[in-house]
Amino acid sequence: MEELINRAASDLVESKYAIALTGAGMSTESGMPDFRGPKGLWTKHPEAEKRAYEIYGRFQQNPKEYWEERLSGHSLLGDLLGDLGKVAPNPGHYALAELEKMGFLKCVITQNIDNLHERAGSKSVLDYHGNVFKLRCVSCNARYDLEEYDLQKLRDEGRLPPLCKKCGGVVKDDVVHFREPIPLDIAEESEEEALKCDTMLICGTSAVVYPFANLPLIARFRSGRLPSGVYARGYGTTVKIIEVNAEPTPLTQEGISDYLIQGKTGEILPRIVEQVKKAS
Ligand code: NAD
Repeated sequence: MEELINRAASDLVESKYAIALTGAGMSTESGMPDFRGPKGLWTKHPEAEKRAYEIYGRFQQNPKEYWEERLSGHSLLGDLLGDLGKVAPNPGHYALAELEKMGFLKCVITQNIDNLHERAGSKSVLDYHGNVFKLRCVSCNARYDLEEYDLQKLRDEGRLPPLCKKCGGVVKDDVVHFREPIPLDIAEESEEEALKCDTMLICGTSAVVYPFANLPLIARFRSGRLPSGVYARGYGTTVKIIEVNAEPTPLTQEGISDYLIQGKTGEILPRIVEQVKKAS
């Protein structure tokens, strides 16, 4: 373990463009359950996973009713994840923020919707599956902080769904639900980062949710088709892919990652930071 931590630290110190990919395992130590770990939400409530697949369809069918249901307090995600305002970043989030501050990490691409990277101080964050504290226009992708709309007032006045202040399009919560496409801006930026990086630190993801799980493949094989249709090639030659996870993943098993540091992100990432400080 010690040896792998030192190896990760020296890979980061030698890197020119390192990025991190993160998943729900990053936040379990903050008290947020993951989906597919042993105590995961889908592991414990398989029926909820089925219901989750219907959410986006309901929005598409009738955005007004979708919003009315959400505002009446019936939100599947809210029921499952609890009050996200009450959880706090853990040492793993702070470690990634510190790596960015020291100049050893250029960006974090997260599947998490919990805003904990931002709260820990990471500045360059791509919320691949959205952010629970934001709203997004489905036409122009403009993002708004929740407080920018008085949703209860709109409901009382019969003016739901909220409309975009820039283009008049329908506004949805920013969270990307099952069957909902990844917003084009985030999808493109993430693929560009994956093509550009020479080191990828993958933390706490089972790497089975697509298209996010394509990002390590794009980095490994240095090519990919951007959502715009443009075929792009990476700039680097080889990439180092490091996993930090409680258990092996398909990336470990299929040799996409170079090595796995097996354990908790909240313990391992701060130890990597310590070693980076010594080595730099
Ligand atoms: P996942 O539940 O599929 O996998 C989590 C992985 O992290 C598992 O491999 C598990 O073994 C590992 N893990 C759990 N705790 C860990 C720890 N302390 N240290 C190291 N590894 C740990 O999660 P995923 O791959 O992110 O995919 C789930 C999807 O669900 C994502 O799309 C995400 O948007 C969403 N989600 C988000 C949150 C959140 O915002 N915190 C929580 C649950 C699910």
